Amino acid sequence: MTQEKVEVLILGSGPAGYTAAIYAARAGLKPVMYQGGQPGGQLTITTDVENFPGYPDGVMGPAMMEDFKKQAERFGTDNRWGMATKVDFSDVSAHKVIIDDTHEITASAVIISTGASAKWLGLESEQRLNGYGVSACAVCDGFFFRKQEVAIVGAGDTACEEAHYLSKLCKKVYMLVRRSEFRASQIMQNRVQNTPNIEILFNTETVEVLGEEGVTGVKIKNNVTQEEKTLDVTGFFVAIGHQPNTQIFNGFLDMDEAGYLETEKGSSRTNIAGVFACGDAQDKIYRQAVTAAGTGCMAALDAERYLAEKGLH
Ligand code: NDP
Repeated sequence: MTQEKVEVLILGSGPAGYTAAIYAARAGLKPVMYQGGQPGGQLTITTDVENFPGYPDGVMGPAMMEDFKKQAERFGTDNRWGMATKVDFSDVSAHKVIIDDTHEITASAVIISTGASAKWLGLESEQRLNGYGVSACAVCDGFFFRKQEVAIVGAGDTACEEAHYLSKLCKKVYMLVRRSEFRASQIMQNRVQNTPNIEILFNTETVEVLGEEGVTGVKIKNNVTQEEKTLDVTGFFVAIGHQPNTQIFNGFLDMDEAGYLETEKGSSRTNIAGVFACGDAQDKIYRQAVTAAGTGCMAALDAERYLAEKGLH
């Protein structure tokens, strides 16, 4: 195992990580960033971003992340490929992070911006057809199913929001709800219930997504009557929540029951001195690029203060 010592280590390269890198680099902290499993984060699988301030005509998600990256590198961020596979935060004066099981970094401060990933049902057919008609992002991929029939799984606010989004593009949207009621807020439920081309199927589970090179249908089952039937859809969307990418911090950092990292109110400080968390890894409520960027800024400022107080910078 190779070894290295760095001042500030940033894990993850979404809006939170890059904003932390811009601030840390401009403060002369020489940040080293590892981009993680999805360089650029969730926005790289998005199309138009119209709600990030500063882009009056909107911007494509991947192009925006390229801009973040250039800005971070301009001030000297050491931006690397690689993924944190293990950590040891038992010695607060030397936080250890192993990259790709081969490289050990000891950092004075660590900024965690590892984000969150979409959850999947776990069906073989869902995995096989992922990107070929199966998607976890209606806003990214809905456009490909214009005037077609699609199904979406989920009953939370995200599923309702995405079903409504799809209803404007698609001929028909089936919402597959596993229980006899929604989890979503009343206003979101009303919205889907009042949309004529959304059909809500309660007590309904997905048995299999059908198709070889693309989705041709979905086999569903009513979990009360056990009746099975096939819906002739060409798109299958999954909107059953997100999983924060925080498993490797288990045992060291405080997290809630869903795995979101706990930070001190009004700061990015975790329960371990010198370890800061920002972005979707610690935010299950807002989950926006702009809020992630905001918390990335907080993490860099908190790290800078921490290093100054400890006389490490
Ligand atoms: P949620 O955790 O709120 O909902 C997940 C939904 O997926 C639940 O209805 C759940 O069913 C269902 N589900 C989970 N696993 C499966 C499965 N294996 N098969 C079928 N269905 C499954 O996640 P969301 O992403 O919807 O929302 C996350 C947070 O973000 C919430 O706090 C939400 O309010 C917020 N949000 C707010 C928005 C807004 O206000 N505009 C927009 C989007 C999100 P069950 O109910 O049976 O458990």
